[in-house]
Amino acid sequence: MENDRYSISNLCVSCKKLSCCTDFFPPLLYPSDLIRLKNVGKSENEFLKNIRINGNVIKTIKKKENSTTCMFWDEEKRLCGIYNDRPFDCKMFPFDVVWTNNEYHWIVYSCNPESDWAWTEQYLQKLESDPQFNEMMQNNKGIRLTSDNPEYLANIEEPPYAVLRKVNWKE
Ligand code: SF4
Repeated sequence: MENDRYSISNLCVSCKKLSCCTDFFPPLLYPSDLIRLKNVGKSENEFLKNIRINGNVIKTIKKKENSTTCMFWDEEKRLCGIYNDRPFDCKMFPFDVVWTNNEYHWIVYSCNPESDWAWTEQYLQKLESDPQFNEMMQNNKGIRLTSDNPEYLANIEEPPYAVLRKVNWKE
């Protein structure tokens, strides 16, 4: 499936920008991310940063000094330096959950949001069955990232995105 014309691998291969780890909003971290990140060989002070969204304090990963690039991005290899321990937010990319029209919805970031996104359903179902998905939703209830939230958008040069469908999740 990964080699099909419409797949995540092709989506990212055709991306000319390769900016998801450089000028994108930093990944939001949840309790199990923080446990996994103990493996990266750095103290939390070195890589964690608190930010505020809708008045809630959320932990994220720092950017490199005077840079918009995630501190774990390996410039030489052009890869995530902590790939196996990367946060769930990074694993979800290019999918994301936003609160819009009074419901949580899946979106996909893409340079080409008008594409046929039918192929994404298998990925959405896989993400929804991941135990970390429930953890993320429980933790994000108070945040409700919305595409028109000024605090969210102030930190991001948001690429185009397409709304896929409502999120299947019960509290
Ligand atoms: S942790 Fe890795 S995948 Fe996530 S933003 Fe940083 S470099 Fe990219």
